Amino acid sequence: MGSPALYETYARLPLAFERGEGSWLITADGTRYLDFAAGIAVNVLGHAHPHLVAALVGQAGRLWHVSNLYEIPGQQKLGERLAQNTFADRVFFTNSGAEALECAIKTARRYHFVNGAENRTRIITFEGAFHGRTLATIAAGGQKKYLEGFGPAVEGFDQVPFGDMEAVEKAITPDTAAILVEPVQGEGGIRRLSLGAMRKLRELCDRHGLLLVLDEVQSGVGRTGKLLAHEWSGIEPDIAAIAKGIGGGFPMGACLATEEAAKGMTPGVHGTTFGGNPMAMAVGNAVLDIILEEGFLEEVARKGLLLKQGLAALADEFPDIVEEIRGEGLMLGIRCKIPNAVLQGALREEKFLCAPAGENVLRLLPPLNVSDEEVNEALGRIRTAMQAVTTGSAEEILPAAGEKSQA
Ligand SMILES: *Cc1c(COP(=O)(O)O)cnc(C)c1O
Repeated sequence: MGSPALYETYARLPLAFERGEGSWLITADGTRYLDFAAGIAVNVLGHAHPHLVAALVGQAGRLWHVSNLYEIPGQQKLGERLAQNTFADRVFFTNSGAEALECAIKTARRYHFVNGAENRTRIITFEGAFHGRTLATIAAGGQKKYLEGFGPAVEGFDQVPFGDMEAVEKAITPDTAAILVEPVQGEGGIRRLSLGAMRKLRELCDRHGLLLVLDEVQSGVGRTGKLLAHEWSGIEPDIAAIAKGIGGGFPMGACLATEEAAKGMTPGVHGTTFGGNPMAMAVGNAVLDIILEEGFLEEVARKGLLLKQGLAALADEFPDIVEEIRGEGLMLGIRCKIPNAVLQGALREEKFLCAPAGENVLRLLPPLNVSDEEVNEALGRIRTAMQAVTTGSAEEILPAAGEKSQA
């Protein structure tokens, strides 16, 4: 497998799937894998969900693309539903998480520009952050491994240690425009900002006239058991980026903002050809039909707890393998004492898929409609894999070269 025609940017596993059904991925020879990576927190309703398929196929027969030269009813509908159900008043649709972040960064800078504070362009970000792979978002993320070799980093980002509120306060200058943070770092290793720290950030922003910008690309759209993860803290941001889950597998993202924060985004200052196209909007609306159903998010929280409790029991049973269980809802991480790639390899032998992350963590990001039986099946497979690692029978499974997080 693999093809010399493709960029070598991904250390792909030699594994391909032909179809999916709910929480399962199936290879051409019929082997079924329990999918707790879900396309890196994307397939929030699993694979081939009938409601999403019907929405996409129905739209495909009517209209694919018209561009933002015209009104797009599905965009108005989805925008209004997002506004009704979140802190936001205004929505801009994109094709990806990085583009949603680009829009968030531009919105924040533009806000200060139209306020007459042209100097306020700098944005405080956190170590371990991941905001995407465009030039601005790699600068925002600040990770050397993503910046190296790509020329001068986009100016205007000041990074502080994750969760260090004193450092944030010290980093604020008259040129600061905003603070940008993931409520739960995904690729950084399922590191959750404490609710107290979230409130402190809001307070600092209010005191200094800064905008609070949240990257909810991974933590949003129900992943933690709330529509957006910041809701756990009781505070509201000024701007937030979502993506991954909102399309349920169809590429799309959105930048959400309050009326005030979006006031600089006037006609002509920003745009996209594909963003918010009818196909994406049909699927996004279909995803919300289900996520917003009465009781759906409570079920995510309940199943998250079931999984987390099961993982905690495994942590007790395998103290030489598990350092810590972290996360919220169905965004959970197993911090490993052994190399995470070794455990991931053993899990793959059990036909169980998950995603690696920083700090030697394996991320469990199942579809949000995963069943209790599948959660229990997952725990059984994880236990078997941990046993195999303990007895050394997993020793032979070498992690694929460079098998690292690529989110
Ligand atoms: C995945 C991710 C992004 C980037 O999204 P893309 O769709 O890959 O551009 C940004 N921020 C966070 C927190 C993410 O998890």
